[in-house]
Amino acid sequence: MKKHNFYAGPSILPQYTIDKSIEGIREFAGSGLSILEISHRSKEFVGCMNDTVKLFKELLDIPSGYQVLFLGGGASMQFCMVPMNLMEKKAAYLNTGEWASKALKEAKLFGEVVEVASSKDKLFNYIPKNYEIPADADYFHITSNNTIYGTEIRKDLDVKVPMVADMSSDIFSRPVDVSKYAIIYGGAQKNLAPAGLAFAVVKEDVLGKVTRPLPSMLDYRVHIKGESMFNTPPVFAVFAAQQTLNWIKSIGGVKVVEKKNIEKAAVLYDEIDRNKLFRPTVIDPGDRSIMNICWVMADNYKELEKPFSDFAKSKGMLGIEGHRSVGGFRASTYNALPIESVDALVAAMKEFEAKN
Ligand SMILES: *Cc1c(COP(=O)(O)O)cnc(C)c1O
Repeated sequence: MKKHNFYAGPSILPQYTIDKSIEGIREFAGSGLSILEISHRSKEFVGCMNDTVKLFKELLDIPSGYQVLFLGGGASMQFCMVPMNLMEKKAAYLNTGEWASKALKEAKLFGEVVEVASSKDKLFNYIPKNYEIPADADYFHITSNNTIYGTEIRKDLDVKVPMVADMSSDIFSRPVDVSKYAIIYGGAQKNLAPAGLAFAVVKEDVLGKVTRPLPSMLDYRVHIKGESMFNTPPVFAVFAAQQTLNWIKSIGGVKVVEKKNIEKAAVLYDEIDRNKLFRPTVIDPGDRSIMNICWVMADNYKELEKPFSDFAKSKGMLGIEGHRSVGGFRASTYNALPIESVDALVAAMKEFEAKN
């Protein structure tokens, strides 16, 4: 049976990325060696790294003055790297979920953190608006897509202090005005590559302003100087990222990806709104994520949660259970997910409704 991959992360990658990765494991770039066994200093891999950076800049339309880094440690390491490198006294954080809370907690190790607003009062099912950012904050941190709760900030905010965004789960899902950000970072395993890799898009002139000494591995300037090769980068994951970026380019770029994402999300939200058995958790359409779509059983059908979960599984739906902290259901509709998978899920929801 065809499997439909709705896992939240690690998650679906383009078939192109999988196929090219298999080829690269057999033989990489005509080197006669596998990508798994070649030096990161070899001319073949240096070429791969340079091309991956170039594609990343091209597809996100990154202006000059920014560097693209590929680092180990996942998004979670960026939670401490960002404040270490940017916070002298004070930073402002918008608390929109579990990842945002974790980022905020790490920042507190390095200075005063102002939580400008939080949606915790309603289990993070909306994006707070109308908050004030202290003018003397060294930066303002947002989590643009809240993977666990299914909310998303889909426009690039205008703020008066440098803005930092965790875009782990929505990178390349839409065009981004990079000029509005000081740093954009994320783990690669949602929309780009296998786990073990983080990306960071860093505006160079925001660096070098803190007085604390920085360990080399946690200093963006060291990685910029080393062109992401200060130490051994996650070689295979960078190679896979290059394939995903090639795939995005081949289908027409980020605007095309966004259009498909909006279509997929609309199909699924429409069904959740319509189907008597289900209820969406995020009500305001403007706050709804197009990457992670969350719903629960309607009040009168709570006892059907497990039966629906089993039914969906029997139809090939994988990974639709909600995060362990919230329950219910979550379908991740990342860039690589074909609309056919959404259609199949919707068909299963309709069939289950008809049976009950
Ligand atoms: C998955 C995720 C993370 C954590 O990423 P790791 O690479 O596991 O550290 C952080 N932020 C967001 C928004 C995520 O979706």
